[in-house]
Parts: sequence; structure tokens; C-alpha cells
Amino acid sequence: MSKERSLLMNTFMYKCPRCQEGDIYTKPFKITDPVSMPHHCDVCGQLFLPEPGFYYGAMFLSYIVTGFFFLGVVAFSIIVLKLSVNAAMGVVILVAASTYIFFLRFARALWLNLMVRYDKNAKENFKNSTFQ
Ligand SMILES: [Zn+2]
Repeated sequence: MSKERSLLMNTFMYKCPRCQEGDIYTKPFKITDPVSMPHHCDVCGQLFLPEPGFYYGAMFLSYIVTGFFFLGVVAFSIIVLKLSVNAAMGVVILVAASTYIFFLRFARALWLNLMVRYDKNAKENFKNSTFQ
């Protein structure tokens, strides 16, 4: 019997929100296609693109998450590191360039985890279904 993992932990692990076992992103990671996803979960059959334009919401999540994150980066740069505003913007550009792919993948995984609920019987139901 599996125990339900928290939404945020499941998001960070890039696991399917329905069964919490299947991987959302294809492996191995390719820098040329960082958000490559399989059509559906191998474990429970959950579709990873339920409808066209599904991940538009992830764009807004990404904006909110990165906005607050970079406010923290600027505050840290100015208050703790005692950098000028221009230098802090340089730090933001460097951090943004290095974390871009992480936030892109994280926002899509978070959006999928917010929209799909955990189902402890999903794996069994998919195994027993005739539509595999
Ligand atoms: Zn699954």
C-alpha cells in the first residue's frame, strides 16, 4: 500500500500526480528538448497533455514563482552582499540564465500536480483495463 506524497514533494520529484510513480519527463534529460514528456504515464495511463493549451496555466505559475524567487535574489544581493542595483541586476540575469530550464520544468510539473488528484487505485485500475 503506497502512501500519498505531498503535492510539492511530488512536483519536485517530477512524478505523475495520479499514481506518484511514473515519470512526467522522458529520461534521459536532453538540453535540446527540456520539457519532453511521454504521451501518458506508463504506470497509470494518466495523459500528460489532457487538452490542447493545457500548460498555459503553467506559464502564469512560472511568472509568479520566478517573480518571488528573483525578488529574493535581488534582496539578498543588495542587503547581504551589499551590491549596487546594477550589479544585482547582473546577478539576476546570471541566475535566471542558469535556472531557466529548472523553472520551466517545475512550473509544468506543478500545474499538472495542481490539476490532477492522487488516486491510490490508479495503478491497479490501469493494469486491469483493456485500453493499455
Ligand atoms: Zn501515473
